[in-house]
Amino acid sequence: MIRNNVRLDRFNTFGLPATAERYLPLLHPDQLTGPEFQRAPDLVLGGGSNLLLMEKVPGLTVHVLMSGIEWSDGKGRFRVAAGTDWNQFVRYTLEIGFPGLENLILIPGTIGASPVQNIGAYGAEVSEFITAVHAWEYGSGPVVLSPDDCRFGYRDSRFKHEPDRFLITAVDFDLSERRPLKMEYGAITGELARQGITDPTPADVANAVTNIRRSKLPDWFFLGNSGSFFKNPVVDRGVYDRLLDEFPDLPSYPIDDQSVKLPAGWLIDRAGLRGSGTSRVGSYEKQALVLVNRGGARGSDVLSFSRNVQRTVREKFGVELEPEVRQVPAQVAAQLSL
Ligand SMILES: Cc1cc2nc3c(=O)[nH]c(=O)nc-3n(C[C@H](O)[C@H](O)[C@H](O)COP(=O)(O)OP(=O)(O)OC[C@H]3O[C@@H](n4cnc5c(N)ncnc54)[C@H](O)[C@@H]3O)c2cc1C
Repeated sequence: MIRNNVRLDRFNTFGLPATAERYLPLLHPDQLTGPEFQRAPDLVLGGGSNLLLMEKVPGLTVHVLMSGIEWSDGKGRFRVAAGTDWNQFVRYTLEIGFPGLENLILIPGTIGASPVQNIGAYGAEVSEFITAVHAWEYGSGPVVLSPDDCRFGYRDSRFKHEPDRFLITAVDFDLSERRPLKMEYGAITGELARQGITDPTPADVANAVTNIRRSKLPDWFFLGNSGSFFKNPVVDRGVYDRLLDEFPDLPSYPIDDQSVKLPAGWLIDRAGLRGSGTSRVGSYEKQALVLVNRGGARGSDVLSFSRNVQRTVREKFGVELEPEVRQVPAQVAAQLSL
């Protein structure tokens, strides 16, 4: 049943005050045949961990709450309902002996949102394990999309570019293939060495990633945030060479012959912004890329601070930072002159 004026404060990890004009909890796929789903709702909400909400969210917000894990083949193929908690699924697969997702442990949010931004961490991306995405196409009906149909990229997929076309209802994963552990990213090897582990298991890698994430990222339950606020920018090699002359310690990840990815957190840090901000909003002291709600922040405060970060980085490095977090409603955010 649709309810009016429902507070979304508890449903976004930034802890921002927001009210949905109309709110519909989606608890069963049968609801999708209702008249509301002939066109796209104004917001499809999962765990609210990648959103920057303004105070008024006009129109209809659909909260995806269908949950459950089907594991019928016994071999490592799973169908998982969109509202299931991502981290719960990762832990479950590890517990029953199907590794693969250990590097992606502790990412907040739901299964249904995982293909939207092709979640990734520590050298792994969810698209490596997805075999199909089940969705409701507004005005049409149920569809099944192959990985190719999803057009996955770095923190990207077609779902980001066509937000008004599909509501994801379930995702199929294949964890049957035994793959080598990925330990060359971040501080995983260092963390394993610190624990004296020389022959790690997937559970050891999961523990190492858990420890690293807990030491670097704030717990959103206590300090509102939405993880990395900006994407790592990709620049032309010419721009990179010019920057390297000026900043010889600039870290980088080559993409191809023409382009290089730069760590946004390093740029923000070197622009002198790590830990900066106001009493309400700022950059996290231990990880500059994470913007935090220090208490009482509104969406407009976070937006204003994020624009200040973009401006400062642009002036110092000539590099444009693009938000990874979706601003809702986009038109209101774009029109706010801060
Ligand atoms: C502390 C912290 C750490 C994080 N670390 C990482 C990380 O390491 N790697 C990473 O990739 N991300 C990370 N994130 C970002 C976030 O966890 C992911 O983007 C996650 O997938 C968002 O899931 P959600 O359910 O909260 O989505 P929401 O924030 O609710 O929605 C995100 C987008 O997906 C859309 N959406 C949600 N559900 C559906 C659906 N069923 N069908 C269609 N569209 C849908 C929404 O409309 C919105 O556009 C982090 C966030 C936090 C707070």
